[in-house]
Amino acid sequence: MANVAVIGTQWGDEGKGKVVDLLTDRADCVVRFQGGNNAGHTLVVEGRKFILHLIPSGILHQGKVCMIGNGVVVDPEVLVGEMDRLEEHGVAVGPGNLVLSRYAHVIMPYHKALDLCREARKGKTKIGTTGRGIGPCYEDKASRGGVRVHDLFDERGLREKLEAVLEEKNFLFRRFFQEKGFEADEVAEKYLQHGERLKPYAGDVSRRLQDVCDKGGQVLFEGAQGTHLDIDHGTYPYVTSSSTVAGNACCGSGVGPGRIHKVAGIAKAYTTRVGEGPFPTELDDETGERIRREGGEFGSTTGRPRRCGWLDMVVVSTSKRLNGLAELMITKLDVLTGLETLKVAVAYECGPERLDSTPPEIGALEACRPVYEEFPGWEEDIGGVRDYSRLPANTRRYLEAVEEMAGIPVTLISVGPGREETILRSHPFDS
Ligand code: GDP
Repeated sequence: MANVAVIGTQWGDEGKGKVVDLLTDRADCVVRFQGGNNAGHTLVVEGRKFILHLIPSGILHQGKVCMIGNGVVVDPEVLVGEMDRLEEHGVAVGPGNLVLSRYAHVIMPYHKALDLCREARKGKTKIGTTGRGIGPCYEDKASRGGVRVHDLFDERGLREKLEAVLEEKNFLFRRFFQEKGFEADEVAEKYLQHGERLKPYAGDVSRRLQDVCDKGGQVLFEGAQGTHLDIDHGTYPYVTSSSTVAGNACCGSGVGPGRIHKVAGIAKAYTTRVGEGPFPTELDDETGERIRREGGEFGSTTGRPRRCGWLDMVVVSTSKRLNGLAELMITKLDVLTGLETLKVAVAYECGPERLDSTPPEIGALEACRPVYEEFPGWEEDIGGVRDYSRLPANTRRYLEAVEEMAGIPVTLISVGPGREETILRSHPFDS
């Protein structure tokens, strides 16, 4: 029996959706533990494309239970919409395969409005939020004014809470942002309806996970975003509002650290970043353009073009430390096919210093220059390869260099978007 956490090692969009979907075959249960519907996982199964923002990608497998932990912030409209769309595609979603933590915080309409008002005012200093109300929802959670899933089942309690919360928020909307604000009654009506729809799914995720583990079941913890977007350890303030590192799999779902036996890190064979913030290996040239085009690097939530650059092993190695990674999984390797030379950042030069780990202060990271090692590229189409030994020699050389720099094995290599376009050298559920 083993439980595994899968974490993005870069700035998100590493292809976690595909990997989680693939690894779910050996899991009984898949849990999300942080973030909200700012995450977007794109899955291609038997030629059909699914984009999931909130429901764990394991939902596409029959007989698996998907859980949304207490650490996630939930927009009920998005959740219900996602459930409906899956049903339309013939994927059954019911309380038997989806559990929503009663203690997850709810994204309210005023959270979304606040996000947009603030971002609009910031102009040039914007941090690139997706405007989904995630940050303001986490703020209310921390300031103890939040609405949790179970509040949607308690009419009187919800109305009272909204009256109190909106008094202050409406002052801000009306006096500071010159916006209309929100009526507590209107918001309550709508969210009580969402509550009715979601009530059958609501449960205690921590206890449900304990039951799964006690019966010898295996759990896959599905990280969203990436390590360098972590609110503490990422490139603050260009980060997300939750903790994205493996440690939060425990807090965000209600299990003890001893329950997580292995942490696998996902890294794209190059680097991307959405929105603002430092990005030492960014390519502002034809090669960057080519990677964006070949890799389809446009946000699955916002459609925004992603910034693209070379693989940065300083970023990945820092993630190894922050998450206690036991292994690495490399995705989108096929995107690099046809490039004559590949560069990998092996260290940073920061003034007179040489760094092998990302500096925590943003100013210091902005001043860093990557030190590159170069590798010869390959021309051969690798999309059909399923056996490591059949990869071109230069592809193996690139992967072996990555493995050596990371100091952990590369156990999975993804060579295309499809579930089957994968070289699996060992399964993380095998201990
Ligand atoms: P996530 O949020 O980490 O799941 O990443 P995204 O879903 O935003 O990005 C992954 C995108 O790349 C999706 O469109 C996937 O279908 C696609 N993808 C995943 N793995 C591979 C791969 O190995 N090669 C190629 N070409 N595309 C891939």
